[in-house]
Amino acid sequence: MKLKIKSLSARTIFDSRGEPTVEITACSKKHCASASVPSGKSVGRMEAAVVSAGEAAPVLEKVSEAVRGHSFASLRALDDVMRRADGTERKSKFGGNIMLGVSVAAARLMSIEKEIPLWKFLKNGFFSHHTHKQAPLIFSNFINGGVHAPNNLDIQEYMVIMRVNNSYADSIEKLAHLYRRVYDAISASSGTRAIPLGDEGGYAANFRGNFEPVEIIEQCIRAARLESVCSIGLDAAATSFFENGEYVFEGERLSPSALQNKYEEYFKKSKLLLSIEDPFAENDAEAFAGLRGSLGLGWVIGDDLTATNPRLIEQYAGINAISGVIIKPNQIGTVSETCDALNAAKSNGLDTIVSHRSGETEDTFIIELAKAASADAVKIGAPARERMAKFNELIRLYD
Ligand code: PEP
Ligand code: MG
Repeated sequence: MKLKIKSLSARTIFDSRGEPTVEITACSKKHCASASVPSGKSVGRMEAAVVSAGEAAPVLEKVSEAVRGHSFASLRALDDVMRRADGTERKSKFGGNIMLGVSVAAARLMSIEKEIPLWKFLKNGFFSHHTHKQAPLIFSNFINGGVHAPNNLDIQEYMVIMRVNNSYADSIEKLAHLYRRVYDAISASSGTRAIPLGDEGGYAANFRGNFEPVEIIEQCIRAARLESVCSIGLDAAATSFFENGEYVFEGERLSPSALQNKYEEYFKKSKLLLSIEDPFAENDAEAFAGLRGSLGLGWVIGDDLTATNPRLIEQYAGINAISGVIIKPNQIGTVSETCDALNAAKSNGLDTIVSHRSGETEDTFIIELAKAASADAVKIGAPARERMAKFNELIRLYD
């Protein structure tokens, strides 16, 4: 069965930060399907270019011209036609956001025409050789700093990592209680009930230093007796505090090795700290490898470093810089390349964490993708507000 796209249209919608983004609708003769695209604030230099929502309509007209008249036997065939017509390395002509919107909407359309769930369509097309099935861990943001929050933390994200033993509904309920417990702890120590929130719904109070949030979350996990299923993950997003070869951390200028010492101290002091993402800047891969060597079982995750790019994932896996990767479809700009990135990570023995962006929509594509690829984890923000669409999709797909 081949897909012929009859029409493509775009409209402006608003993401969780109130910024304009695009929703793309693709129609065949019989059906229509839509997809909306999130946006990042801590954006890696290797990420696909973004076309503003205001420019979407004329750009989409060019994409339509490129795909018009074709009958696509696979999603990859459609993505390849768009890539060739764009012809740039970072998709600067069509924009990774527009191309991803078309690619996800087309994937939905193909799954509707084949009468199979989207995750199954993706699994059949890209991951049929993986037989292993698993319930992904949940990375949930509890405390925000860095460019995602108006507070004094340099580290961007403090997350609870939850292992799901029974059902997602049961784990998400525990996670939501824990989120409120952390609120109470921050409120008690700061003496105010008015605690701002960061972009992903994590609490964004001021703290005594970059380690205090780890201590608070760890105490709350232990008080809730959840230490057998919960651990802690950080996203330093360190490119945002990298200046002239040094890291500006708690007001001091640190060399890469001095920052590595800090992280090692954090992992020694917190028994529940399991993972750190982008501990160093995206052009400081050697520092990643140094930390990876010294942390032993701790996870060192690439995000800005690897930008969901299969070539970069191979390259950094090859020098042992990372133990896992963040997978964000809009970093690379098509579904088939996102799946290539997942497969590159898997064949290099890396953990895969399929992730939201800080500016989110209610689109739940990433959960379907995680299920199709049997990803190790999903990273989806705080258990609150607009992020609940993704939590609820986990329940729908797994419970
Ligand atoms: C991240 O850095 O992992 C993240 C989700 O933030 P952003 O979307 O701003 O890149
Ligand atoms: Mg990150």
